[in-house]
Amino acid sequence: MDQGVILTAESRPSPWGNVAKPIIQCSLAEVMSEELAKELQLEEESHTFPKEILTDDGPFLTGDNIDTSSDEILAQMLQTQFDKEFDAQLSREEKKFNGDSKVSISFDNYRKLHPCEESDSSEDEVDWQDTRHDPYKADKPTTTPKKGFIGKGKDITTKHDEVVCGRKNTARMENFTPEFQVGDGIGMDLKLSNQVFNALKQHSFSEQRRSARLHDKKEVSTAEKVVDPKTRLLLYKMVNAGVLETVNGCVSTGKESVVFHANGGRMEDQIVPAECALKVFKTTLNEFKNRDKYIKDDYRFKDRFSKLNPRKIIRMWAEKEMHNLKRMQSAGIACPEVVLLKKHVLVMSFIGKDQIPAPTLKEAKLGLEESKQAYYQVLSMMKILYEQCNLVHADLSEYNMMWHDGKVWLIDVSQSVEPTHPHGLEFLFRDCRNVSQFFQKAGVAETPNARELFNVVSGLNITSDNQVDFMAEIEALEKMNEDHVQMHGKKVSMYQKDDDGPPRIYDE
Ligand code: ATP
Ligand code: MN
Repeated sequence: MDQGVILTAESRPSPWGNVAKPIIQCSLAEVMSEELAKELQLEEESHTFPKEILTDDGPFLTGDNIDTSSDEILAQMLQTQFDKEFDAQLSREEKKFNGDSKVSISFDNYRKLHPCEESDSSEDEVDWQDTRHDPYKADKPTTTPKKGFIGKGKDITTKHDEVVCGRKNTARMENFTPEFQVGDGIGMDLKLSNQVFNALKQHSFSEQRRSARLHDKKEVSTAEKVVDPKTRLLLYKMVNAGVLETVNGCVSTGKESVVFHANGGRMEDQIVPAECALKVFKTTLNEFKNRDKYIKDDYRFKDRFSKLNPRKIIRMWAEKEMHNLKRMQSAGIACPEVVLLKKHVLVMSFIGKDQIPAPTLKEAKLGLEESKQAYYQVLSMMKILYEQCNLVHADLSEYNMMWHDGKVWLIDVSQSVEPTHPHGLEFLFRDCRNVSQFFQKAGVAETPNARELFNVVSGLNITSDNQVDFMAEIEALEKMNEDHVQMHGKKVSMYQKDDDGPPRIYDE
């Protein structure tokens, strides 16, 4: 410590040495200016941590050359030492606790975290870093180990590694809001200290708040208004990666999703349609709560469901829609083509033209002849969906069918399930009722009633002539299916009717 300080009334002695200069507030332009960057870099270098305290096993503070006049460095040193001792004690406790037991309990969660790790533990922020078009990819450490070792004890990289921390911080700047200009430093091998990174992060937040206030005053694009910042960032990244050219207006704001129009860009291994629809699943769970039954009992998603948090469940809806669309696509059913799925955002081909979505069957004013054609198409699609895709739409109605290019297109299949879903046949019956009612109202004389349609689509032969009994039979079948699952521990492959007997379940 500096012993030569002359004590006056103005300069009180501080047990920590000299009082650090207050940080001067500056604007973003200044923060990003090159001169400042140089200054910061110089300052950084002069404030570099002594090597000894950065390695886990090194001695603590040995050299005479260590500058102890900075409160900050001193405090950091003490904190590092404290953390180290704490962790060492924890390791001893852990060892004692576990003894020779084969099953051991890890105390890892109680270890002190280095501030670098602490500053960002959200898996979301670094979840998607699309580097496919990143010319710097080769130089950029995208797979930095969180902590621990690379190789067999050699080349040990600890989380305290200053260089690694610095690079990580630089990479994290990519996750600031789109409006926050971080320059092109991300691509260079730039190492940002925690201090600088945190200052920038704070600045990014306040900029975000400020720009949100500004945006309130003037009209902004619809896309920005209806989605949360994280989604906006996701959309921005898609544009940035070139997958999309632009994200345009909002086509629909439903209960569970918001749909946008976007101009397609390009992908390396895939053709991106010129017009795309982005279905953004809402990340507020409320609307989805009553739809749990569609996914909870779907064996494809069952195991994962119970372990997931609400955000992940929403992603699962998007994933489910993607899988279902793909199945339909490969069976030749007219439906949107999947382009890309990122978290809760599904990119697909746009059904419509020049940013105007095709009308739904509800909206399209079809003549009788067209209605008749539409009916036969729907019938055929329902059969293919059931037989080839092994799916029941489960929300089929005139609202989820579009009329485009003289044919019917099926959309909105996130809730679609396999027929052997515990309520699959009930859902199918409901679909049949909607379809039957719609085309009967439209005057298509060929339209059968819901029960007949159900039998045609499912290939089952349920004979009850009234709806109550019909439903009871359906439920009995579903129950049989469930019992089969209970007994054999696996689901049945499909329902099938006997030629001269009641419907039964069929196992391959
Ligand atoms: P809702 O609650 O209104 O049913 P949703 O959340 O179930 O909405 P969808 O039914 O998939 O979402 O889509 C809502 C609307 O967005 C559709 O009625 C249609 O107008 C439009 N839309 C959805 N997908 C596409 C697409 N691929 N191309 C064009 N428009 C689409
Ligand atoms: Mn819908």
